[in-house]
Amino acid sequence: MFKIKSEVQFDMAHYLSGYDGKCSNIHGHRYRLIAKLKSETLHKEGQLRGMVDDFSNFKEALKQIEEEFDHKLIIENNEEGKVLSKKLSELQNNFEISFVNYRPTAEEMSRDIFNRLKSKGLSVCEVELFETPNNSCIYTED
Ligand SMILES: [Zn+2]
Repeated sequence: MFKIKSEVQFDMAHYLSGYDGKCSNIHGHRYRLIAKLKSETLHKEGQLRGMVDDFSNFKEALKQIEEEFDHKLIIENNEEGKVLSKKLSELQNNFEISFVNYRPTAEEMSRDIFNRLKSKGLSVCEVELFETPNNSCIYTED
């Protein structure tokens, strides 16, 4: 089995809707995203001969995810989130806010990122998302 991995980091703000504690407040993290692709065999011919995948494809896919989240406020797409987004845009219309259809925990985000990589045709086998230097979530489909 061959596995290749690559990493990107991004800064993102979020809060946890319906949570009793510090994480209910808007706050930010420096996220560290490590993704792995796997293959039993290597490509046998052409441009990808001897590779699991081209690192430049892999890095480009991770860069797109980084750009999706970097320096954004990520809000859960629920009633509270819609009201908050509306109020923030009334204060300043250039806040960059992205909605997600889940509570933006490391667990949900790592699954979302896994599926985004998979939908780009990559042979992703694992996504690890560090929310702090000591805490991460690992998502696989095993
Ligand atoms: Zn947090």
